[in-house]
Amino acid sequence: MPRPYNVIFFSYLCTMNTTSIRKDFPVLHQSVNGRPLVYLDNTATTQKPQAVIDRISDYYETINSNAHRGTHTLGRMATEALESARTTVQKFINAKEQHEIIFTKGTTEGINLVAQTFAQQFLNEGDSVLISAMEHHANIVPWQQMCKQKKANLLVIPVLENGELDLSEIDNLLSQNVKILAITHISNVLGTINPIEVLIEKAHKKNIPVLIDAAQSVAHEVIDVQKLDCDFLAFSAHKMYAPMGIGVLYGKSEWLNKLPPYQFGGEMILEVRFEESTFNELPFKFETGTPNVDGILALETAIQYMQKIGLKEIAKYENELLTYATEKLSEIDDIIFHGTSKQKTAVLSFNIKNVHNSDVGAILDQLGIAVRTGNHCAQPLMEILGIPGTVRASFAFYNTKEEIDVFIEGVKTAKKMLM
Ligand code: PLP
Repeated sequence: MPRPYNVIFFSYLCTMNTTSIRKDFPVLHQSVNGRPLVYLDNTATTQKPQAVIDRISDYYETINSNAHRGTHTLGRMATEALESARTTVQKFINAKEQHEIIFTKGTTEGINLVAQTFAQQFLNEGDSVLISAMEHHANIVPWQQMCKQKKANLLVIPVLENGELDLSEIDNLLSQNVKILAITHISNVLGTINPIEVLIEKAHKKNIPVLIDAAQSVAHEVIDVQKLDCDFLAFSAHKMYAPMGIGVLYGKSEWLNKLPPYQFGGEMILEVRFEESTFNELPFKFETGTPNVDGILALETAIQYMQKIGLKEIAKYENELLTYATEKLSEIDDIIFHGTSKQKTAVLSFNIKNVHNSDVGAILDQLGIAVRTGNHCAQPLMEILGIPGTVRASFAFYNTKEEIDVFIEGVKTAKKMLM
């Protein structure tokens, strides 16, 4: 059974008790290249608390069995644990029905599931799919490929220089035979928090369903799918302190019921004959093959861990880190910021004038500081910005102001060495 774990809840503080919290994350306590690790690549993936790591080994030490199959006791326990985790996810994003939660491999698979099944059923020649210019490749390529197959058009909401969406032509764009709007909640490059409530309302006025890519928001914002009224929402567990290889697609029942199955095989069927097969009900219609039970249970533990700290407290603290880091970085000459939207999450993308982003990343790495460099799987956005890539530091609730000081000194060193 899951071991008890230790999270200190300081709702009355706007700063985090990071000393206590950091004890929960074993990976943070190591040296990299002879320096204490400063992990600032949380947008790519987050680190895992001991409770999440323990949940995986507990599962294999106690109830490992194939869920939804065996009638034996362990099989029943695995099934019950999995379905209880589904309820935890349902409550976490406030979905109306438990069967609206589909377990996937991650955001990419969730978006592919919707793109392929939606296109098969609802996209025809001359129709359009609307995305934005700040999408991750995961929310571009699946739609682009479906549009090619169906001879439909891929329309793009432009981005302003400060990293906000340019919504000046949104009504016009939504009027161009758009069958679905697929948009990111938070940009993984710019940190921009998009006004998805406004976009969903506008799209719905024209009966256009909306898919939200919540990969970057689910660990940083309170998500309430009923309040948002989005039709689909996809996210990855590994960006919310849970393991890789597991994710969630939320869909309104009415939409999921209208879509055909995505993959075929065991678990998703009701009856199979050589001539014909019938398909299972939600959510199993979309969950083909043996599920990632340990990943699902670990995701439940990660959600409980975040909830004990409080999503609002996490957002508040990460915002403090962002403000502090932005101030410190702006004191250095020749820094170019990418993404200065007023509504922003704890992602800091920048370049040093005339210096390649990967050279900065390499020097920071030598100093034990992990940041991401490159195009961040957003090549079209890089083309618009006219740059090959950025250096990106992204913060989580276990990061500290002291770590930001180390990072700022690292940037100064890189600048001295490279300019
Ligand atoms: N969407 C956004 C905004 C992302 O930042 C990412 C990953 O960085 C993805 C989609 C893809 O997520 P995954 O690789 O976990 O499927």
